[in-house]
Amino acid sequence: MEIEFLGTGTSVGIPMIGCDCPTCTSDDPRDRRLRVSLLVRHQGAQILIDPSIDFRQQALRAGLKSLDAVLITHAHADHVFGMDDLRALNYRQGAIPCFASAETWHNLYRMFSYAFGPAGPSSRPRLVPHIIGGNFTLCGLHVTPVALPHGDMTTLGFRLENFAYITDCNALPDAACEQLLGLEVLVLDCVRYKPHPTHLHLDAALAYIARLQPKRAYLTHMAHDIRHAELDARLPPGVRLAYDGLRLVV
Ligand SMILES: [Zn+2]
Ligand SMILES: [Zn+2]
Ligand SMILES: [Zn+2]
Repeated sequence: MEIEFLGTGTSVGIPMIGCDCPTCTSDDPRDRRLRVSLLVRHQGAQILIDPSIDFRQQALRAGLKSLDAVLITHAHADHVFGMDDLRALNYRQGAIPCFASAETWHNLYRMFSYAFGPAGPSSRPRLVPHIIGGNFTLCGLHVTPVALPHGDMTTLGFRLENFAYITDCNALPDAACEQLLGLEVLVLDCVRYKPHPTHLHLDAALAYIARLQPKRAYLTHMAHDIRHAELDARLPPGVRLAYDGLRLVV
């Protein structure tokens, strides 16, 4: 399986509109972060995790021409507001299977009512809804959904075989930790240095990595107080900051 980070930035993106801080004005391309999204390629199939608000740019940069499935972590705007741009792929391939929890579908039906209500003359994204109720198999990969607290909502992380993508959570409950043992690669939420009410901060993320002992770990969903070159060099062995366009073979 191959992983491509389509975006690694927090909800406002980096650079943030109007900000002149060292990260937002950095000329290091790794400090330019679109909103978080990930592409998984496996045996010719392509699975998108979250059609982010930057999906169009991300799809163009990745040379995306088709999707076999979309997995959705939760219905926050930064993760799903690229949904309408799935239309371009719909024109090529028809409807796309889309997997999310019942809670997330409840929000998606409300946020994208035009896409799921009665059809009119205007084009709209076409998705085949699937409600995630437990483990399932997708494109030959065993998928384990991992329920995570994210402020007052529950998000899903996804384990695909020995890879896991865990973002937008303020803790990893014991049940989640049990699902995340024996990983080759763990991608984990890390929004900033200071504690945050709905996300993991650096020390919390590193503590979970030390507990779960994946072979490699990558941090994502980073805000502008994290400058790539400054932090990446002093992370523990096996832990790196992700950046947009990074590809990994798992
Ligand atoms: Zn987010
Ligand atoms: Zn800034
Ligand atoms: Zn969120």
